[in-house]
Amino acid sequence: SIPLGYFGGIGAASQNGILLKGSDFLDQLRKMNMLFMDKTGTLTEGTFEVQEVHPLNGFDREELLLLAASLEQHSTHPIAKAIVDYTNGQPLQSVQRQQESAGRGLEGEIGSRSILVGNRDWLADHGVQYRGNGLDETYTCVHVAVEGVHAGIIGIADRIKEDSKKAIEDLRGLGISELIMLSGDNQEVVDAIARKLGLDKAYGNLLPDEKYRQVEEALQPDRTVGFIGDGVNDAPVITLADVGIAMGGIGSDATVETADVVIQTDQPSKIPLAIDIAQFTHRVVW
Ligand code: ADP
Ligand code: MG
Repeated sequence: SIPLGYFGGIGAASQNGILLKGSDFLDQLRKMNMLFMDKTGTLTEGTFEVQEVHPLNGFDREELLLLAASLEQHSTHPIAKAIVDYTNGQPLQSVQRQQESAGRGLEGEIGSRSILVGNRDWLADHGVQYRGNGLDETYTCVHVAVEGVHAGIIGIADRIKEDSKKAIEDLRGLGISELIMLSGDNQEVVDAIARKLGLDKAYGNLLPDEKYRQVEEALQPDRTVGFIGDGVNDAPVITLADVGIAMGGIGSDATVETADVVIQTDQPSKIPLAIDIAQFTHRVVW
């Protein structure tokens, strides 16, 4: 039977917008000593804005934007919304044979030209000669290639959530000794955010299955490993972790479905609060 105090814990959590899928997870939250965190939408707002547009190899700025937005119009990625919004409702072109590769980018045909939109690795995978210009050090960069030629770079930026820094400090205070960020974004951007937040480790350029493997390798009998994420691609890792946490407010149905704990307000500060409630409940019950 479940001690009565646990219901108090679950109730207290729920009043604070933290949904627990069972009393076991109060114990797991209390024991958690390692936490992996997704970047986009979890520690950052997940709403990008275009900051800079750099055409390359003689391509025209407007054409570059039109091609990128046309390809992105059917994608649900937050990056896609930023690029489409930036074109201010301008009519977009139709795309044939469009395909999206999670954590990489898109490909498709416009007119009879093959177009790629995505990160550096995505272009490299297609044998496109990459022309860097330092933009990667400041922004999340979306690269565009036309018929195998690097046509330009769109620099976009996201903001760290208001309460992320405090959440990290509080998590440390509650005994989470390892706080690690996992991201598909480029390493320079990832490092800058990790420095601002005071994280122990931060891995960039990861594909969804590489995030999975990182967490899998961390799982050990003497550890309780948590993962928090919001994207569709995060669902398998949420299932894998000892404590799978979903940022539920903007999170996909799949992540909310598979999670042990759902943060309904998208605030990272709810994670230390959940642990606090779990620790308090334990003291009351035992
Ligand atoms: P995160 O780990 O930060 O949640 P994702 O795994 O969703 O990021 O994406 C990783 C990277 O892949 C992005 O930073 C971007 O460079 C590229 N990417 C993914 N989807 C798209 C897209 N629809 N358009 C352009 N680039 C994309
Ligand atoms: Mg994500």
